[in-house]
Amino acid sequence: MAKYKLEYIWLDGYEPAANLRGKTQVKDFDAFPTLEQLPMWGFDGSSTRQAEGKSSDCLLKPVASYPDPTKHNGLLVMCEVMMPDGTTPHPSNSRASILDDSGAWFGFEQEYFLYKDGVPLGFPQGGGFPPPQGEYYTGVGYKNVGDIAREIVDTHLELCLEAGINHEGINAEVAKGQWEFQIFGKGSKKAADEVWMARYLMLRLCEAYGVDVNWHCKPLGMEVDWNGSGMHANFSTEYMRTVGGKEYFEALMAAFDKYKNEHIAVYGPDNHMRLTGLHETQSIDKFNYGIANRGASVRVPHSFVNNGYKGYLEDRRPNSQGDPYKIASRILQTIATVPTK
Ligand code: ADP
Ligand code: MN
Ligand code: MN
Ligand code: MN
Repeated sequence: MAKYKLEYIWLDGYEPAANLRGKTQVKDFDAFPTLEQLPMWGFDGSSTRQAEGKSSDCLLKPVASYPDPTKHNGLLVMCEVMMPDGTTPHPSNSRASILDDSGAWFGFEQEYFLYKDGVPLGFPQGGGFPPPQGEYYTGVGYKNVGDIAREIVDTHLELCLEAGINHEGINAEVAKGQWEFQIFGKGSKKAADEVWMARYLMLRLCEAYGVDVNWHCKPLGMEVDWNGSGMHANFSTEYMRTVGGKEYFEALMAAFDKYKNEHIAVYGPDNHMRLTGLHETQSIDKFNYGIANRGASVRVPHSFVNNGYKGYLEDRRPNSQGDPYKIASRILQTIATVPTK
């Protein structure tokens, strides 16, 4: 028998964007526990906007687990929040709404800003701006990325890989202090689970640096010429990859057009600030698609057309603060309305 530290992690009930919460329980196991061996647990929902004070217990149901790379015998346990009956998903439980589909693949490109003392890393304290955007994107050197950001993003990459998260890459983004990581997963919930866990690891890592992660899609506001943050959602189903075709593609895009408002509703708060038609975006009230077009709502990769309209598509509208569970759920819901042959 050995003692294992189980960090149960869940999404709280805050609107319009949920926060991550976590608490540790120590349990004895003969060997490194599997997901099936991890017990349900509870928490005080009245402290997380998930219950009233009178009857405040909510339940945590483990749904994915990862070895915690920072601890001996530690596990990171992603949980769904359940009602006290243990079987009904809590209204805040967005993961429960995702259709099960092992053939659905998602790749999320998470952009975010690192902040210190209220401004992006590298912005002058006490007001003002660094030199304008231009050299920061994929930049190198102190004047472009400062002195601690690279250590943070590289350490984060190591932590994610050690935890078994399918982290695919990182890059410095267009604004100073802005970064991106990409996560890909096969199965309708896998990439979304791993984005949330990667966000958790980033937040926890940054604590020791006195750095906050700002997930807002336009943290510097609309008035200034600084990029916002997105979370492009690349998606494919087995049918899109193996059958596809121009006719199916056009029907799929017609469905995306039809449900554009339903998509925007779950693509992250304040997206009107970011989807303006500028800075490689389409405006929020329009839907379009375009081959290799980074100013479109949905970008169609060259490879998709060259392969006979087969492969994956990139929905560029989700923003950096969006819930990947809600995003995956909505995309699969819209795809499900389109008949396949
Ligand atoms: P860009 O910045 O040019 O949009 P990235 O390389 O940052 O491109 O992101 C592309 C994303 O597409 C990656 O997250 C990748 O995993 C994802 N992707 C690639 N192939 C597929 C596929 N068949 N289905 C879903 N997502 C995919
Ligand atoms: Mn990218
Ligand atoms: Mn990017
Ligand atoms: Mn992209």
